[in-house]
Amino acid sequence: MIEIGTHTHPSPHAAARYILLAKQKVLIVGDQFLFSLGDFHPTSEMRSVYCGKFEENDVFVCYFPQTPKGFEEKGLRELLFETTDYYYGLLSRAQQLATWDADHQFCGRCGHALTVKHPKEHAKVCSHCNIRHYPRISPCIIVSVRKGNDILLARPLTAKEGFFSNIAGFVEAGETLEQAVQREVMEEVGIKVTNIRYIDSQPWSFPHQLMVGFFAEYDSGEITPAKDEIAEAHWWPYNDLPNTPNPTSISGQLILAQVAAIAKDQDR
Ligand SMILES: [Zn+2]
Repeated sequence: MIEIGTHTHPSPHAAARYILLAKQKVLIVGDQFLFSLGDFHPTSEMRSVYCGKFEENDVFVCYFPQTPKGFEEKGLRELLFETTDYYYGLLSRAQQLATWDADHQFCGRCGHALTVKHPKEHAKVCSHCNIRHYPRISPCIIVSVRKGNDILLARPLTAKEGFFSNIAGFVEAGETLEQAVQREVMEEVGIKVTNIRYIDSQPWSFPHQLMVGFFAEYDSGEITPAKDEIAEAHWWPYNDLPNTPNPTSISGQLILAQVAAIAKDQDR
């Protein structure tokens, strides 16, 4: 588990561990993705951000405009799905902090270059207007909807034929999570849901979502897929589901949990 802490952030040093990124990819050698300072050559274009402590070592994420020689690139999604929960938080955090650093080089309020980092927080302080710029975190709801023994699964236009998932979407400004669940399900498939219940959450670094997972129950309406977003959506018997997301993702976990909940009701 990555320790975030409130201590003063150190500068890169010899005893620290380093996660290397280039062009949104994680750099690896074999199956290794945590390196020491002697394993790579810092360049003038490389940028680094302190991530926190992991296994009592300081960890930094360093990102390069081009992949340095001797490293292979691996997609973050691929790596997250291969790693255990043990590394998930560390890799997610590294990716999100690198994104924050890259995307906040100038103040959004006054346009001055952001050169001052807060000593203890991940915040860049504008030396001109004093506003603090924190990493952007975008809450998204994701919901598994149940109707009796059936589960609602939809295929977005972007998904391959035969691959189905839960309804998900960004929370709008001024909206509660529960309102976002109701709105997204109505917008994407035209049905009303009730009994909305929080289940779990997961950081999702593509690039900075926080997925907030819910169960909900069918209330009323007929499935009517939104033409610009959903290719098809159906009620699926819980014991005969199509291809669904990897269980490392909260989407896959919600479906497994919903299947288990229905199966338990069958045993009563
Ligand atoms: Zn400013």
